[in-house]
Amino acid sequence: MRIITSCENCKQELETWTFAQDRVQLARQQGDQIELTCKNCNSTEKYPVDNFSAVPNRLLQTIALLAFLIGTPLVIWLIWDVFWNLTMSYFILVATGLFLVPGIVYGLILKNDRTRVNAFNRHQFRGRQRFP
Ligand SMILES: [Zn+2]
Repeated sequence: MRIITSCENCKQELETWTFAQDRVQLARQQGDQIELTCKNCNSTEKYPVDNFSAVPNRLLQTIALLAFLIGTPLVIWLIWDVFWNLTMSYFILVATGLFLVPGIVYGLILKNDRTRVNAFNRHQFRGRQRFP
């Protein structure tokens, strides 16, 4: 999960990655404070875990969108011959499913990611601290 905070010096957004589900886990894995170096002003500071917020995974959003955009035509291509031999009622059923299934997959991926982001942001380790 991508977590961000802002540089104490220049307010530039700083980001890092973690597998932790929340700030308590993050603190357990990496300590109460995480040292980051700003790419903008080059200052290295330690930031309390509570100053970090999780943000949605852009890669996951892209994958979800691709699954939706590629998944539908792919399934249509796979069943192309069968598709046109279906009776009308089956045709409608299958056609609905074609758009519904990738749509659901898309929604689930995004929902999962949002749930993880919310879970991380909900619990604080010690309460947000201003630096220092
Ligand atoms: Zn900076």
